[in-house]
Amino acid sequence: MDLLDTWRSRPAAQQPEWPDPAQVHAVAAELAKLPPLVFAGECDLLRGQLAAVARGEAFVLQGGDCAETFSGATADDVRNKLKTLLQMSVVLTYAASVPVVKIGRMAGQFAKPRSKSVEVRDGVELPAYRGDMVNGFGFTAEERAPDPGRLLRAYHAAAVTLNLCRAFTQGGYADLRQVHAWNQDFVANSPAGRRYERLAGEIDRALAFMNAAGADPEEFHRVDIYSSHEALLLDYERALTRIDSRSGLPYDVSAHFLWIGERTRQLDGAHVEFMRHIRNPIGVKLGPTTTAEDALALIDALDPQREPGRLTFVIRMGAKLVRDNLPPLVEKVTASGAQVAWICDPMHGNTFEAESGYKTRRFDDVVDEVAGFFDVHRALGTHPGGVHLEFTGDDVTECVGGGHEIVEDDLHQRYETACDPRLNRGQALDLAFMVAEMYRT
Ligand code: PEP
Ligand code: MN
Repeated sequence: MDLLDTWRSRPAAQQPEWPDPAQVHAVAAELAKLPPLVFAGECDLLRGQLAAVARGEAFVLQGGDCAETFSGATADDVRNKLKTLLQMSVVLTYAASVPVVKIGRMAGQFAKPRSKSVEVRDGVELPAYRGDMVNGFGFTAEERAPDPGRLLRAYHAAAVTLNLCRAFTQGGYADLRQVHAWNQDFVANSPAGRRYERLAGEIDRALAFMNAAGADPEEFHRVDIYSSHEALLLDYERALTRIDSRSGLPYDVSAHFLWIGERTRQLDGAHVEFMRHIRNPIGVKLGPTTTAEDALALIDALDPQREPGRLTFVIRMGAKLVRDNLPPLVEKVTASGAQVAWICDPMHGNTFEAESGYKTRRFDDVVDEVAGFFDVHRALGTHPGGVHLEFTGDDVTECVGGGHEIVEDDLHQRYETACDPRLNRGQALDLAFMVAEMYRT
């Protein structure tokens, strides 16, 4: 059997109950004929940059929506998210004095694992929403029916989003001086922003110095941004896996970076089996129950050559557990000689339900988990390689706390996420300045 199909005989968690497998087959055949969204050479470049992260020479900023939606694939939405990501990355680049590898949870993050396969409201039971790639968000039987035609729509929405990202980042929008001007605006106008005047002032002087010295490098005018999503629906990922004409090796060309979620990282499961065979840089989310043995077994399965940049562990323990649960993983993985990149997802271990019923996260818990992640790496002499966040470029009210002090009673005002609560623009920028301060101390 083709190595790219061995996953089919393994249990695949979190797959939709499609009404008719023949339809999925037909859609997959159509997807297999469509052009790649990303190119193998770009994936190789990212792998090289993640190798630098694993060596302690670069930092990752990965983020975007929990669940992208088809209706969110607009110029405004994408621009706002990119703008926020770029602003955060400038602050982090300056404070960390290392390159910041920018990866969007964008252009493909359309499928969600769910803890329950059904949702009950007022006695009515319907299939849970599994992302726009599977079914609709609206609570009607029609919307919630899984529709394989959505796999094709996801491909096209990803293509549109990626095209916007490429245009914005290469066409002058990402100009460093412009991004810095937006940051100065944030510092001047947000209550918490004042705390960051010093850092913003230092960046200002550094830029003025470069300008006075006549330096205007190409890197100031354009940036590289990579795409990523959870590789959840294996029919989709398999259909978009192609053999690279240069190397003869398979790449999943649906995104540059793909990760295996906390719910699908079973060693003998279909997701691990599929991801073993693609050459992209990949990640695995590790939650609070992960043992060092689990981590080592995942390395053996997914990175048998111990190739720096191939494997990233995305740690999502929760603020209360990270200081206790992370050290044994880092110690044993490091002792094994593997060179993985460690990045911190301070979102998924800190979700709770507010009294009003909204799923939310406390900004302070998010900050505390990142601080704990840094503490652990500092104590062990290893590299805190980056952060993985859920945020949006808009002023939503989904997480509590932050500079503008959103309280639980505010959540209803602009609660727009299709899945988990995201940091809004101000909270995301606040966090970037705080992580920058952690990096320097
Ligand atoms: C997510 O990233 O939205 C997600 C579901 O994360 P995890 O696999 O860590 O629970
Ligand atoms: Mn999420």
